[in-house]
Amino acid sequence: MADLPFHDTGDFEDADRGFIAKLTPAVVKSRNGQVVWDNDSYAFLNAECPETAHPSLWRQSQLCAKQGLYEVADGIYQVRGLDLSNMTLVEGDTGVIVIDPLVSTECAAIALALYRRHRGDRPVTGIVYTHSHIDHFGGVRGVTDGNVPILAPAGFMDHAVSENVYAGPAMNRRAGYMFGLTLPHAPDGQIGCGLGMTSSTGTTSLIPPTLDVSRTGQEEIVDGVRFVFQLTPGTEAPAEMNFLFPDRGALCLAENATHNLHNILTLRGAQVRDARIWARYLSETLTLLADRAEVAFASHHWPTWGKANIVRFLQEQRDLYAYLHDQTLRLLNKGLTGAEIAEQMRVPPALEQVWHTHGYYGSVSHNVKAVYQRYLGWYDGNPAHLWEHPPRESAIRYVECMGGGAAVVAFARRYVEENDLRFAVQLLNHAVFADEGNKAARDLLAEVYTRLGQGAENGTWRNSYLTGAMELTDGIVPTPVTTTAPDLLAALTVEQIFDSLAIRVDGPKAWHESLSIDWHLTDLGELHRTTLSNGVLVQRLNPPEEPVDLTLRLTRAQLLGLLAGKGVEGVEREGDITALQRLVAVLDSPGRDFAIVTP
Ligand SMILES: [Zn+2]
Repeated sequence: MADLPFHDTGDFEDADRGFIAKLTPAVVKSRNGQVVWDNDSYAFLNAECPETAHPSLWRQSQLCAKQGLYEVADGIYQVRGLDLSNMTLVEGDTGVIVIDPLVSTECAAIALALYRRHRGDRPVTGIVYTHSHIDHFGGVRGVTDGNVPILAPAGFMDHAVSENVYAGPAMNRRAGYMFGLTLPHAPDGQIGCGLGMTSSTGTTSLIPPTLDVSRTGQEEIVDGVRFVFQLTPGTEAPAEMNFLFPDRGALCLAENATHNLHNILTLRGAQVRDARIWARYLSETLTLLADRAEVAFASHHWPTWGKANIVRFLQEQRDLYAYLHDQTLRLLNKGLTGAEIAEQMRVPPALEQVWHTHGYYGSVSHNVKAVYQRYLGWYDGNPAHLWEHPPRESAIRYVECMGGGAAVVAFARRYVEENDLRFAVQLLNHAVFADEGNKAARDLLAEVYTRLGQGAENGTWRNSYLTGAMELTDGIVPTPVTTTAPDLLAALTVEQIFDSLAIRVDGPKAWHESLSIDWHLTDLGELHRTTLSNGVLVQRLNPPEEPVDLTLRLTRAQLLGLLAGKGVEGVEREGDITALQRLVAVLDSPGRDFAIVTP
């Protein structure tokens, strides 16, 4: 810890700069009285770092926990600390443009109200979504009903929706670990996630963009405010953009450069990102936009003021992603595997000496493995790893070889005493997976997870370890249920609707089933055919005229209702209705609170 640059307190000055007012109390409730955001629960951070936290993460959490309305530049304001993300407000000729309206409508409405209390009752005259992640659009109905220009990067809708369609349930459960959603907010519990404190749990929404930003250099004027855009697809999100306000010397960096090392692959799971492209686009930001900026702000964390500081910040962020990418490639081409590269990778000392390169959200360790994964995939080339037993089967055999569960726990104790917590975890995980009733193993594993979590500089590692420890002790705690917003359902294409049905087909159950259904979407004027055979549901748009088992005429809304189990009332049908029943009979449901730290 001695080499952390604690003498550098510039971030605290920047995080406080332009402060106007706090929200008091900093608690946001839903219409039925449920607390969806409580920043006051983090008041304990206003103290020296305790033994139960890493000082570097504690410092980051102190910065992220600051909340309120801040002036960023002339006519540009931010509400920070009232959700995972920031809301930025840009004053135009007749009203105010909202950039990134937070996760929940409740938080967004309160943030706008806080702004208006101090800047007057300006109408919202435009919306900008910087990228396709829900913490940058989910709260939009809290600030507008639509009927204003809404700008987003090209491909926004497709990615905003598809990220949640296919692997959504698994991501949701894993997000619970990563954000520590079920942990108490406490010095020995959840103290943030590095990118912010946590995610709010209110109502999400989505209003489709009215204007796509489709090229770098594109200029738009909204409510008299001039924007110059840089499109950055495939960086932190598949659809993302930076932009400059040339008349105000302010640069929005979306989530491409924030005050931490971000994720090449987030622990909740996602498609792996491209560190090379990410670095390339930050170079382009430096060339195209940075020299016209006096302040740079992003959709998380606090702004950076001064041209020289902005340039240095962007260079360091760019070099960080480029270094991890290039060095991983250099080492994998020498035959090292992901775990081996992660073990030896060290960020250059000059970069380590600045706070914003630290792995509070992403980590060097898991990002290096992500770069390896992007190029070479899950297999490390060693045939010993080609056909391993799955975890429980391996565990049973390892424990047997080591002389039984009690012997494994005794071995693990020795490694704990030697402070090799990582190997102790491997041993104890085998003991629990071989026999989840082995209480000594569970207790010791929970203790080791707690120590690893409280020692972690990375917020998402801390939350994962501490959630694992809690579930070993208390059993599985249900993750707060996130229901898919009606707006997101409404944004699904018919193709995506049938895709989401196809991934629910229980293959073996459907092996011997065969049926075909024509779906006439009367409001869209489309004909889709789904055919089930070989355990697979395939779809076809505009199929040739052929006999099918069942023909249905219905609206898109009726289709959604039907799939949600609302029945076929009002749906015009022809043919064998049992075909639909047979299809429904082979549909499986995703698991919600599946086991992670136990078999
Ligand atoms: Zn975000």
